[in-house]
Amino acid sequence: MESVNPYTGVTWAKVPDGDASHVDAAVRAAREAFESGPWSTFTATQRGHLLRKLGDIVARDAEEFARIETADNGKLYREMVGQWRYLPEYFYYFAGLADKTAGDFLASDRTNFHIFTKHEPMGVVGAITAWNSPGMLLIMKLAAGLAAGCTFVVKPSEFTPISTLELAKRIDEAGFPAGVFNVVTGGGAVGAALVSHPGIDKIAFTGGTETGKRIAASAAANLTRVSLELGGKSPNVVFEDADLDVAVNGAIAGIFGASGQSCSAGSRLLLQDSVYDRFLEKLIEQTKTIRLGDPMDPETQMGPLANEPQYRKVLECIEMAKSEGAKLVEGGDAVTDIGAYFVKPTIFAEVRNEMRIAQEEVFGPILSVIRFKDEDEAIKIANDTRFGLAAAVWTQNVHRAHRVAARLRAGTVWVNAYRIVTFAAPFGGFGESGLGRENGLDAIKEFMETKAIYVELSGQPRDPFKLG
Ligand code: NAD
Repeated sequence: MESVNPYTGVTWAKVPDGDASHVDAAVRAAREAFESGPWSTFTATQRGHLLRKLGDIVARDAEEFARIETADNGKLYREMVGQWRYLPEYFYYFAGLADKTAGDFLASDRTNFHIFTKHEPMGVVGAITAWNSPGMLLIMKLAAGLAAGCTFVVKPSEFTPISTLELAKRIDEAGFPAGVFNVVTGGGAVGAALVSHPGIDKIAFTGGTETGKRIAASAAANLTRVSLELGGKSPNVVFEDADLDVAVNGAIAGIFGASGQSCSAGSRLLLQDSVYDRFLEKLIEQTKTIRLGDPMDPETQMGPLANEPQYRKVLECIEMAKSEGAKLVEGGDAVTDIGAYFVKPTIFAEVRNEMRIAQEEVFGPILSVIRFKDEDEAIKIANDTRFGLAAAVWTQNVHRAHRVAARLRAGTVWVNAYRIVTFAAPFGGFGESGLGRENGLDAIKEFMETKAIYVELSGQPRDPFKLG
C-alpha cells in the first residue's frame, strides 16, 4: 500500500497490505504473550516502569514522530510536534495508575464470608485507529491498556500507518516482551478480520460512526467488548454577553484548526440574534487572513486535507450545502496552486439545523452558522443532533455558563474555550458519538474485568439446597 503526502500528492512510503492470515498470526502472538509469556508474570509496578521508559523514548523522538505524521496526514508540524511532546504524559499518567487498581473489601450482609473485588486485565485488545491524529488516538488506548496488563494487535488507518510502525520499534527498545504489541497494516478488511477474530477480547476503535456501528454489530457475535470513539457535529454556542473577540478566536480554533479534521470540531456555530451580524462580520474578516500552505512551515495556519477521498468528500459537502439553501459567505472552493488537497476555510450562514450540512459530519473546514433567540432555543438546537461528542458555551455570565454547560448533551463541554484535552479528563461521546470513555482515572478499567471473590469463613458444610 502506498502512503501519499497530502501536501505534495506524492507517495512517500510503502507498507504491506495485510490480510486475515496476518491478523490471525498477530492475535496468536498477542494471546500467547498474554497467557504464558513473560508479560503475564510482570507485576503492575513493573508494567509501570516499562511505560515510563517508553514515555521517555517517545519524548526523545517527538520531532521525528511529528515529521512522519505531517508527511502522512498533512497536519501542521507545529501542531503535531506539540502533540507528540505531550503524548509521553499519557504513558506517565497510566504508569502511575498501573499498581493502583486495587479492588474493594466489601462490607456485606453475608457475615460468614470475606468478599472482595479484583480487577483483571481483559486480555487481547484489537485497536483500530483513524488518520487525523494516529499516534494520539493509539496512545490513548495503549497507555491505559498496557497499564492494565493487556496485549495489543493494532490496525492503523491505511492512510497513516507509519507512526504506528515506528512506535512498534520504540516499544521493543523500551523492553516490552515479544507479542505484547503487534501491528497489521491494511485497509478496512483487515480491521474487520480483527473485529471478528474469536481470539480478541476487546476492540478499542476510533473512527467514523458508520464504521463504529458495523464494528459493534460484528463484535456482538462473540460478545467481544467494544469501546467506540466516533464522529461529531459539535455546537459552539455564543451568547450576546460573551467577549466577542475571544469567541471569534474560539470559533476559528473550533472549525479551522487541523483543517476541521477533528472529531470534536465545532462545526455548528450558534449565534444569538442580537450579535449575529457583528460576530459574523468579525469572523469572516479573521477567516480571510488564515494562511494556507506547507504544513512544515511554521507560518502556515491551515494545511491540506489528509487524503484524496476526504478532499473530494469536503468539496461534495460544499455543493450539498449550497443546494439545500445555505448561504455561502466565505470560501467555498478548492485551492489548487499551493499543493495537492487544499480547500478554503468555508462559512455558510443562515443554516437551519435540520439541513444535512448541520446534521452530518463533514470532517473538514466547513462551518455552519445558525441563529438563535434565547437560551432555551440555543439548548434545543445544540442538542438536536444524533451526536454528542463535544460542545462549547461562550458567555461572561457565570450563572449562564454553568446552566448551559449542564444542559448540553455532550461528553466534553468547554466554557469560553475550544479544543483543549488532557490525559486526566475522560473523553468520549453521548449518543452516536461513541461508547465508553478514554483518558482519566476510569479509563484503565475499560481494559479490565471485575471479579468478586467470596471466601467462606466457618469451614462448615452449608445447606446445599438453600441459596445465600
Ligand atoms: P473510518 O471509520 O473510515 O476508519 C477508521 C478505521 O477503521 C481505519 O483504520 C479503517 O481502516 C478501519 N475500518 C474501516 N472499515 C472497517 C470495518 N468494517 N471493520 C473494522 N475496521 C474498519 O474513519 P476515518 O475516515 O479514518 O476517520 C475519520 C472519522 O474518525 C471521523 O468520523 C471522526 O470524527 C472520527 N474520529 C473520532 C475521534 C474520537 O475520539 N471520537 C477521534 C478522531 C477521529
